[in-house]
This record gives sequence, structure tokens and C-alpha cells, in this order.
Amino acid sequence: MRGCTKISPGCKHCYAETFAERFRGVKGHPYEQGFDLRMVPEKLTEPFTWRSPKLVFVNSMSDLFHESVPDDYIEMVCRVMTMANWHTFQVLTKRSERLRDLLTGRLRFAARQEHIWWGVSVEDRKYGLPRIAHLQSAPARVRFLSIEPLLEHLGCFDLSGISWAIVGGESGPGARQMDEEWVLSLRDQCASSLVPFFFKQWGGVRKKKNGRLLRGRTYDQYPERVAASIPERESCFAYAENIRNSIRGMFSESAVQILA
Ligand code: SF4
Repeated sequence: MRGCTKISPGCKHCYAETFAERFRGVKGHPYEQGFDLRMVPEKLTEPFTWRSPKLVFVNSMSDLFHESVPDDYIEMVCRVMTMANWHTFQVLTKRSERLRDLLTGRLRFAARQEHIWWGVSVEDRKYGLPRIAHLQSAPARVRFLSIEPLLEHLGCFDLSGISWAIVGGESGPGARQMDEEWVLSLRDQCASSLVPFFFKQWGGVRKKKNGRLLRGRTYDQYPERVAASIPERESCFAYAENIRNSIRGMFSESAVQILA
């Protein structure tokens, strides 16, 4: 997927939008259409060509569970992730109700995969905390929270069933400030609930200068990663062909030509 639309205060300075809009109108560029939402089916088979295990952010430039993305397409993405089990996929969304509904229904096969991590963004109490509850009620094997940009003190909340928390402040022009007290509260709650804690950055206009030390140390904890063996190339070609055939059934001839 490429492109998205804003849904809550965490989207205010969306880096994906800023990046994509720089290339609007540039002929032949992947972001020729700026940040307009669109599917990119020709990219779907790429994970089968990667011969070493990767950590993949789904979607770093969009939101897979955006209301305009058809269920069939989301299911196709999930089929690719399920087959390509030598990679680890981090699926992050702000559309947590749709995530819950689909994982409870037609995406149950993907929900139970250990190499697919399902996460929600949490920036504040009003929008962020309900997303945690939605994620907790989904039958996901691995659940994570991306608590960034952290915009206020979140208070105490239930971390049961959560396997990972990432915390970070906003960066770039106009970045909103994050207080140390908010981060310490999250660190301590994660420690007492045995949730791996990753502190990404303080952010700010000069994020490099502000760094990522919290009380003098870094926090780089991750959930355990499963290591499936990499299949023979022939199997990978077969997986890719299977997906291409499904895409042919879903899209017009012109989309298929891009795939060729
Ligand atoms: S949901 Fe994510 S990708 Fe979409 S506008 Fe908000 S921050 Fe950007």
C-alpha cells in the first residue's frame, strides 16, 4: 500500500505524507501520486525473492486496515506474510477495530502466526487507549504497541497479552514535546508486566542531538523471533506464482501487466 488519510492527533506530522508529497507529479516516481491511497499489487511477491530473513514494517508508508482497502486485498497481503515465514512482519495500524474484526474472522489463519506481529499506534488516552483494548480482544499470537509520538501521560493501563512496547517522541519541524515522566511510567509498567520495552528516541527538532538515552541507558528489548528455514528457490517461485494468479483474478489486465 502507498498513501493514507489522517485519523487522529498522532497523524498531524505524518512522516510518510511529508515524504510522499515531495514527489507528487514526478513522472515515473513511486510517489508520483503523492500520498493518495493506492494498492501496489506488483510489490506483493517481493518477500519471496529475499533470500535472507528480514524484519518488515507493514505498512511504513500507509495503513493496511484503512477503510478504503478491500478485505480481499488485505487477505492477500496476509497470505503472502503467512507463506513467507522466514521473515518477521510487523503490521501496525491506527484502524484497530477493523484489525480486530478481521483477525477474529477471515484473517484468523494469519492471526495465529508467530512470525506476524500485530500492533496498534498509541499516542494519547482518547484515541490510543481504546486501540489497546481492541488489540487485546483480537486472537493475535503476538501483539505490540507503538507508543509514538507519545503526546501525553497515558496513566496506568492493562498490558495483558502484549508482547512488546515501543516508545518514542515526535521528531521534525513543529515536533510536540514528550516528558520524561510519561516515558518512565511506561518503562516501569512494562517491567512489572514483563513486556519487552524499546525506547526509540526523544525526538524533537534535533532528534540526533536529543538521542535515545533514558536515565543514562538505552532500552532495546524485542520479543523473541522465530527462525523458519528458507525454502528452496523453486518453492519461492511457486509461492509467488500462486499469489500472481490470485492477483490476476482480483485486478484488471493493466495491473497484471505491471506484474509481468
Ligand atoms: S494512519 Fe499512519 S500513515 Fe496514515 S496518516 Fe496517520 S500517521 Fe500517516
